[in-house]
Amino acid sequence: MAIILNEKIRIGVSACNAGARVRWNRAGWDRIAALEREMTGFIWTPVCPEVMSGFGVPREPVRLSGGNGSDLWAGAARMKNRSGRDLTENIRAGCRECLQALERAEVEAFVFMEGSPSCGVYRTTLKNRRLGNPPGVFGALLLEEDLFLIPALDLESPIKWWDWRRRLHAFCWLKRLEIDSKERMYSAWHHLKFLCQEVDRPESQRIGAWLAGLPKRLSQQTAGEWKSATLRLLRKPSTFRRITAVMQKHYAHYRKHFNLEADGIEAPAAELSKYKFVEQLLAMEKRAVNEGYDFEGAPVLFREKR
Ligand code: SF4
Repeated sequence: MAIILNEKIRIGVSACNAGARVRWNRAGWDRIAALEREMTGFIWTPVCPEVMSGFGVPREPVRLSGGNGSDLWAGAARMKNRSGRDLTENIRAGCRECLQALERAEVEAFVFMEGSPSCGVYRTTLKNRRLGNPPGVFGALLLEEDLFLIPALDLESPIKWWDWRRRLHAFCWLKRLEIDSKERMYSAWHHLKFLCQEVDRPESQRIGAWLAGLPKRLSQQTAGEWKSATLRLLRKPSTFRRITAVMQKHYAHYRKHFNLEADGIEAPAAELSKYKFVEQLLAMEKRAVNEGYDFEGAPVLFREKR
């Protein structure tokens, strides 16, 4: 049976990607709108660390000098605006306030703006340009939290979003799950291992071998170690090539057992347009929920309670 989450996941988002024109030059994008109907399956909390720091809109752009956001928290780097004004203490205060707002909102994930000296988290490449010197000041705080982090630009790619969403659902389900016995841990691993293998086979094999060699009694520490390792793995993105290969395998299996062809579901092939490709994946998910079988490609799905 597919695992179904009914409770909406709460997600924080860099406000300039949630329709607020809060960038230094009054720019902003409504990237979460790209999710269309799916957007309502989440509860969003937009925050802007630079606005909360009192920088205002419009403002001079800021930059980090002497290192990245982690270095700033360690006292080795500073944030300055174009005129050279030191804004380090302001950005510290703004970031702390945003983090407190996210804690009050009980978010489990955050959609961050790539390349920003404040919100950036990982190094990203856009149009062959390497962006920023991550993490940014707020990004460094986000990395210390137990959050699922999603780059904002990936919301606009149907396949990348599908990949983030299925891992986000699996991540939140596992994070909320109480592991009080070995049976529970093995059963959870059984549900997630195919997805984990897809994103990182060597690490999944390491976890599988480690599980096989555990002593009879499960300690809280062991359960915690397994959970952390699996949550870390679920944060890693897959690739289009791997998604295609695994989904074709799933498709062949389900077609044999559940006659997918009769429902007009096609094999997710690389030649399909990206939209059509995702349409087939969603049709397979829907079929799994309706028929009550496991869909290993997306082991945890969200369905709103009506
Ligand atoms: S990237 Fe972050 S700090 Fe910059 S405008 Fe967007 S939300 Fe504000």
